[in-house]
Amino acid sequence: MLPSWSLVFGIVFGAAVGSFLNMLVYRLPRNLSIVFPPSHCPACGHRLGVLDLVPLLSYLFLRGRCRYCRAPIPIRYFLVEAWNTALWAWLWHQWLIAGDLPLRFVIYAFASSVLIAIFFIDLEHYLIPDELNVALLILGLLHAGLLAGAATDWSWASLGVLSFRNAVLGALVGAGLLSLIAILGRVGLRKDAMGHGDIKLARGMGALLLAPGMLTAFALAIALGATIGGIWTLLRYRKAPANASTLELPEPEPEPIASLVLACALYMLWVDALLTLLPQRVQQRVYALLGQAEEVEEPFVETPHTLPFGPFLSLGTLMVLLFGEVFAGWVRAYLEWAGL
Ligand SMILES: [Zn+2]
Repeated sequence: MLPSWSLVFGIVFGAAVGSFLNMLVYRLPRNLSIVFPPSHCPACGHRLGVLDLVPLLSYLFLRGRCRYCRAPIPIRYFLVEAWNTALWAWLWHQWLIAGDLPLRFVIYAFASSVLIAIFFIDLEHYLIPDELNVALLILGLLHAGLLAGAATDWSWASLGVLSFRNAVLGALVGAGLLSLIAILGRVGLRKDAMGHGDIKLARGMGALLLAPGMLTAFALAIALGATIGGIWTLLRYRKAPANASTLELPEPEPEPIASLVLACALYMLWVDALLTLLPQRVQQRVYALLGQAEEVEEPFVETPHTLPFGPFLSLGTLMVLLFGEVFAGWVRAYLEWAGL
């Protein structure tokens, strides 16, 4: 157990990692190198100095504008750093000051950073970089492997006992559930019900949260998605009622069923995750062999009623990561009431 004043370190580390996260959120979806070139303003190209890169404070002092060309800096930069700082501070308190499980702090803290990056990238680009999904999966497996036997919020359920086996099972439940929805949606509604990135994200969620936590996070994501998505759609239609042409855009051609089923099978077997760790050339060759046009999905055609699901899955996961005890209590009370 660390003294309360050590929370300062949680805040500083959280802010520093948040700053790095901003770079990932910008570069990963654009397929840019994350090591080169050094940070620069995308508007004027001026290289950023130390004073431009102080997390949170630089944004405030520069009032959200580039020091050199005055181009506005998206508010996202500030939000990513603030959110990451808050989560790291919270987890620091939960697992290092109030509790005493340093490994869990490290894994939960990095997992929540990955989830923040997924939230913003999917919201803007309608895609989730494979690197992030693989990172979440690895963090989940490490958590179960290194802390096997440690208490979880779900220890009262056999599938909620922390073990490597249960993390693998959780990943299967996550990928399986979303694959099922994707395939049923494709067959029944004739459209793409779930993105490939969402299926891979659910797999990582399952490894980290185990099956009971994953299902809870998924339920929360659905509830959040229905509420926020509904409000969002209403606002959008109200704002642009005359803009009928965008409403009549043809639905994008859905993915062939065979290709979807094959992809789901690969995700269940973690083939894609293993491939992500190999050089790009090898990856492309394997995907060509399998008849899968390399991973990269078709450019997304935005229609007014679509919202990506990844951000909601991220939020649901974060809620279970932070307040799992509360949700686990609800689930348990419900199961007892139902006599299960
Ligand atoms: Zn600039």
